[in-house]
Amino acid sequence: MADLILVRGARQLLTLQGAPGPRRGAACRDLGLIRDGALLIRDGIIHDVGPSRRVENLAAARYAVEIDADRRVVLPGFVDSHSHLALARPLLEDSPNLQGPDEPREPRTSSAGDEAHIRNVCGSRLQAAAKRFHRNLLRHGTTTLGIRAGGWSSDAVAVKALRVAAALHEHPLDLAATYLGGHGSAAASAVLLLRLRRLKLAQFAELDCEETGRDEARAREFLRTARDLGFPLRVHCDQRRHAGGARLAAEFQAITADHLDFTGRDELRLLAHSNTIAALTPGPALCSGSDHYPAARFLIDEGAAVCLASGFEARACPLYSMQTALALACLRMGMTAAEAITAATINGAHSLLMAHRVGSLEPGKRADLLIMNASDYRELPLNLGGNGVCLSMKRGAVLYRETECPEN
Ligand SMILES: [Zn+2]
Repeated sequence: MADLILVRGARQLLTLQGAPGPRRGAACRDLGLIRDGALLIRDGIIHDVGPSRRVENLAAARYAVEIDADRRVVLPGFVDSHSHLALARPLLEDSPNLQGPDEPREPRTSSAGDEAHIRNVCGSRLQAAAKRFHRNLLRHGTTTLGIRAGGWSSDAVAVKALRVAAALHEHPLDLAATYLGGHGSAAASAVLLLRLRRLKLAQFAELDCEETGRDEARAREFLRTARDLGFPLRVHCDQRRHAGGARLAAEFQAITADHLDFTGRDELRLLAHSNTIAALTPGPALCSGSDHYPAARFLIDEGAAVCLASGFEARACPLYSMQTALALACLRMGMTAAEAITAATINGAHSLLMAHRVGSLEPGKRADLLIMNASDYRELPLNLGGNGVCLSMKRGAVLYRETECPEN
């Protein structure tokens, strides 16, 4: 007997169904909304979606386990396409504002400390820590995650980190792994990329343009090598300062140009008219206090495909909630609620080349969905810093259900 689930009673069911390809322009504001909607799920895959009256009357629905959305908003699970692998310890020493002058301090550490931590701690402990973190993401609505690892002096550490990530795939989140590189010589990068390809440890290669920006020849060599090995490309650009990566991203037809906090208008316009998706992360600007948020409004008005991500990085950006990213996108980046939701779901899925499986609620896709404590989707960005998830479902399995506080 098939495993059947009927999710019914959604006041607003945001299907995000639409034309193939990343959404741009007016399509970013079309959420495929069904009022009083329902979904029928069979063996973890969406079987049917539509108005409750029709879906509830399907013959198969009679045998389904029912989940009542109780007049709430139902939407696809968030696709956070840009986070940095959470393997290092969060260290209070990097946040002196949190400590009083008399409190004991840990030894000062840095990204070199991250590298040492990954090298010295056994893989199973790193895996357990990352798994706990991923379960926390799921409680906050993220069901698919794009992680990146790299930027260290030792290639062995990068390989170890990506091995940990590979072991976590589908436990419980879908993961897409990216090697963040371009720091070493072209020859060393080529050897490592070849190894990662052979071991299937990275699905994307990403140029860390802030490190290589002043050496354009090296940056180009990295992108060429990665492309020739068959890696879809990403470019990590202009998070802390302008380094010029957006132009390279468009020229090399990268899948994404990520961050873009300090990118100039001419380069943004170039991106908007290219096939490259602008992967915007409001978290780093909030956490650094730079106030240089990515120019989402300009990009969307110019016709860019935009996705929204947390930009999580254990030290520099401890923001992992896509709900908070939605709020910042609307409050600080000029996006509408509908644009932000599109960017955080279907466009995020396109940016990870996973839109055939996740990012929208339509037949044949994985049943990754959220029931939110809201009666209108426009309320979602008003939940700054809170958790409005009532239920998270991944591949048809309920992996998080909110518990209520007793009334007395
Ligand atoms: Zn980043």
